[in-house]
Amino acid sequence: MEGIRVRFAPSPTGPLHIGGARTALFNWLLARRYKGAMVLRSEDTDLERSSPESERNIMRDLKWLGMDWDEGVDVGGSYGPYRQTERLKLYEEYTQRLLQEGKAYYCFCTGEELEEQRKQQLSRGEMPRYSGKCRHLSPAEVDDLRAKGYQPAIRFRVPAGQQVLVMDEVRGRVEFESDGIGDFVIVKSDGNPTYNYACVIDDHHMEISHVIRGEEHLSNTPSQVLLYEALGWTPPAFAHISLILAEDRSKMSKRKGDTSVEQYREKGYLPEAVVNFLALLGWSPEGEEEIFQPQELVSQFSLERVSRSPAVFNIDKLRWLNGHYIKNSPLERITKLAVPYLLQAGYIKDEPSQGEWEWLAQVVAAVREYLTCLAEITDHVAVFFQDEVEFEEEGLKDVLRQEQVPRVMAALRKAMAETPELTPTGVRRMLQDLRKDLQLGGRKVFMPLRIALTGSNHGPELHELIAILGRERVEYRLNRTLKLAGVEG
Ligand code: GLU
Repeated sequence: MEGIRVRFAPSPTGPLHIGGARTALFNWLLARRYKGAMVLRSEDTDLERSSPESERNIMRDLKWLGMDWDEGVDVGGSYGPYRQTERLKLYEEYTQRLLQEGKAYYCFCTGEELEEQRKQQLSRGEMPRYSGKCRHLSPAEVDDLRAKGYQPAIRFRVPAGQQVLVMDEVRGRVEFESDGIGDFVIVKSDGNPTYNYACVIDDHHMEISHVIRGEEHLSNTPSQVLLYEALGWTPPAFAHISLILAEDRSKMSKRKGDTSVEQYREKGYLPEAVVNFLALLGWSPEGEEEIFQPQELVSQFSLERVSRSPAVFNIDKLRWLNGHYIKNSPLERITKLAVPYLLQAGYIKDEPSQGEWEWLAQVVAAVREYLTCLAEITDHVAVFFQDEVEFEEEGLKDVLRQEQVPRVMAALRKAMAETPELTPTGVRRMLQDLRKDLQLGGRKVFMPLRIALTGSNHGPELHELIAILGRERVEYRLNRTLKLAGVEG
């Protein structure tokens, strides 16, 4: 596979789907592993549904995932142009050739007629396919109809009684009968090529050696193989990777959860977590390890270990992986990524200043182990921002009324006054000493402190909380909550 040429060929008709991202990733991993070329081709011939904005978004999301390409719409390359709408002349040349050789023909059937043919075939219990009505129009008949202003489509004349063999790198040998295919349209009546047609011409001209794509395209492959034969070309190697199913093993759909890369980015999934997750959708590594940095994937990924059975999109696994990367990435980076969520939730108002960055990093350090995506951070940080503490339950006030509480508070104040800098480790030590000096059990010391500082009996580590709040805010909170509980602090 050394020097392979692969391509990712999205139709820019919407955001980058999770399935598309996985297809791109498998191509990219192989291109990088075998020092080949990755091509990004925009299959934009569906003029109504394609948009430059989708094309840009797809590229943005691929880049966000850490993929790059050697040739493509934005970077150019020697096999360009890389947008199908800019290659129409090339398709046209081959269309003329196929027409001249009698391998393609004009078809004047209208949409209604085709629908009628389809219905009749179905009612006879036949597989619907083109009836062949226009197969035998003479050149004179064609000229006449065209002169009358009818706009024909062009169909490929599928050879009868032929076995079409697809040797698939993932699925093995797959056979199709040409009789089941029916003459398919290669150029629509508006002059635009169909996917099957443009794809073959481009893959050949771009010297693509391996076509790696989703299983939903396996049924297109025999038509494409017949086109290769008709044009006298050798088909590339094919590898069709299995579908991605939702957790209930049905088709993935927007109703059942997020399906685009964009949505995961917006929720605060890290690109390396998404890439790690996507790689495991259908590919299995040799050992038990599940955490893979992109570079490790590049050195280990192979088509041999890509499964034929459908991959199930297990969101808990993605969350778990993301939590892993959130915990293990540099704090500065995670803090930066968390800031937009804090801004949006109103915890912070502006872009933080230098000092605030440092403080925010401590907050992030205190909560990141609880997160499976960064958007969740807003559920965990209220305690650091709101000094007007409210009691989660009335009953918690009783804990502050326990007889040892005034002693605990006094000891804390004294200890804080004697501790020059309130760092998390310093505070941890301070709290341990304090408990020992008081000769009380942990619950009698730490629970009242926690409740007085947060109004809750659970939350972040106490030593981190105190270090993050600092003396004044600790003092303020203690005074206030003790008063609310009717205790003399
Ligand atoms: N434009 C097709 C798609 O987005 C590409 C299929 C292929 O890779 O051949 O599904």
